[in-house]
Amino acid sequence: MKHESIKLQSLHHYVGGRRIEGQGGRFGDVYNPAHGAVTKRVPLASREEVGQAVALAAEAFPAWSATPAGRRVQVMYNFRDLIRLHMDELAELVSSEHGKTLDDAKGSITRGLEVVEFACGTPQLLKGEYSASVAAGVDSWSMRQPLGVCAGITPFNFPAMVPMWMFPLAIACGNTFVLKPSERDPSCPLRLAELMSEAGLPDNVLNVVNGDKEAVDTLLTDPRVQAISFVGSTPVGEYIYHQGTAHNKRVQALCGAKNHMVVMPDADMDQAADAVLGAAYGSAGERCMAVSVVVSVGDGPADRLIEMLEPRLESLNVGPYTDETAEMGPVVTPDAKAWIEGYIAKGVDEGAALVRDGRGIRIEGHEDGCFVGATVFDHVRTDMSIYRDEIFGPVLSIVRVDSYEEAVRIVSEHEFGNGTAIFTKDGDAARDFCDRVQIGMVGVNVPIPVPLAYHSFGGWKRSLFGDHAIHGPEGVRFYTKLKTVTSRWPSGIKDGAVFNFRQGGEH
Ligand code: NAD
Repeated sequence: MKHESIKLQSLHHYVGGRRIEGQGGRFGDVYNPAHGAVTKRVPLASREEVGQAVALAAEAFPAWSATPAGRRVQVMYNFRDLIRLHMDELAELVSSEHGKTLDDAKGSITRGLEVVEFACGTPQLLKGEYSASVAAGVDSWSMRQPLGVCAGITPFNFPAMVPMWMFPLAIACGNTFVLKPSERDPSCPLRLAELMSEAGLPDNVLNVVNGDKEAVDTLLTDPRVQAISFVGSTPVGEYIYHQGTAHNKRVQALCGAKNHMVVMPDADMDQAADAVLGAAYGSAGERCMAVSVVVSVGDGPADRLIEMLEPRLESLNVGPYTDETAEMGPVVTPDAKAWIEGYIAKGVDEGAALVRDGRGIRIEGHEDGCFVGATVFDHVRTDMSIYRDEIFGPVLSIVRVDSYEEAVRIVSEHEFGNGTAIFTKDGDAARDFCDRVQIGMVGVNVPIPVPLAYHSFGGWKRSLFGDHAIHGPEGVRFYTKLKTVTSRWPSGIKDGAVFNFRQGGEH
């Protein structure tokens, strides 16, 4: 399939409960990565178009926030059923624009679905606290109220899950929402918004505008937007955090990662090798919780791991999502492929040992596809760019250290602090690691320690800017503000006096 032979499908925005054609005159390319060809064009919203979506969301806020929480979550129950019903269609939208296998796409939609299920419980989560008689005749109570218009800016790698980390909870809490998904794979988020309408959400409560920096900058500076949830790369997230907070918004910006898996000499190596295979190469390494560094304590684990990975990687089936047997798909665009291959070249120049080279992989019938094969570097040093930078592809670096202490130190000193894991049979070492390591999400013999929806997800250091992790209890706190009421009522009952409204005897 050649680029020129494909008729480009035009995408749209979803505003006010309907599809809206872009008026801004600018468009972005959406690829089918399995072919490396542009198949759709997405409108890039102008300032005016984003402003219009924000205006409608602001208009919808008073009525939606006044809707009882129990009624608001009925929409989430319906939405959950619709996602299940449309699972195959949604997965196809994800895979055809992102490239990941259908199983992987379904897995990620299911993770998002779990947040929708969590959002069904918001009436319970919004309950406040109450203290009777803090002084004579005085009671004190607190409640959590929604913020207003919230915005979400999301990355390409999870076009279903990451938007669902945000809008279901924000909306269930009584906010209205403007989503600006990644312009690289916008079809699934657009479809999710349609399903929210079908689930009974009033028009204007959820709007999706496609766009790039211009759309994001509009959201960051519009005074009607109260809060921004961002997930994406660190340079962009840091910019969004500073711009958003400078404009008095609440911001949570979840960013880049370099997740280390420490393998101790006593680890179960079968378990560790299987874990590395899934965690480093699943979704072609385009996961913020992917393992991109193995820290081998002593030479034993590294030597054994390479030996055990070799046959596993040899038989790893790389292919398009349309091939049901494919275990790893392409990366997202030709640019992403060039970026990853550039890092493989840098690793060689910097002197790392290239154990397995994923460049030049050829998939029959998909010769122009954005495929990069599984790559392994050994003897990586911490001053190399392949160690320091987030590559976001199927490239694993193995770093050898002499001691457990050195392992804890290098993991903790890395600028990113999203996830890490330790593989060991030693409970003492595992406990010490969990306690001391400077990372937000930690696994013990679990390579990708992603918290479930009812916990909160978030890294430390330059992997998260802001005070709140996403979804779970922290998500509820992020999308609501606390109000505390102290009230005194004249208490004349002990004097025999009664209030007027009780005199009729009805109360
Ligand atoms: P990205 O930062 O390029 O884009 C994210 C969003 O920001 C997109 O919607 C994009 O349109 C917008 N954007 C891009 N450049 C911008 C600019 N200059 N100004 C304003 N907005 C801009 O990220 P990506 O490549 O789509 O996604 C991959 C990154 O996301 C990786 O770094 C990955 O680690 C990270 N990520 C992090 C998490 C997490 O939870 N920490 C989860 C998923 C992905």
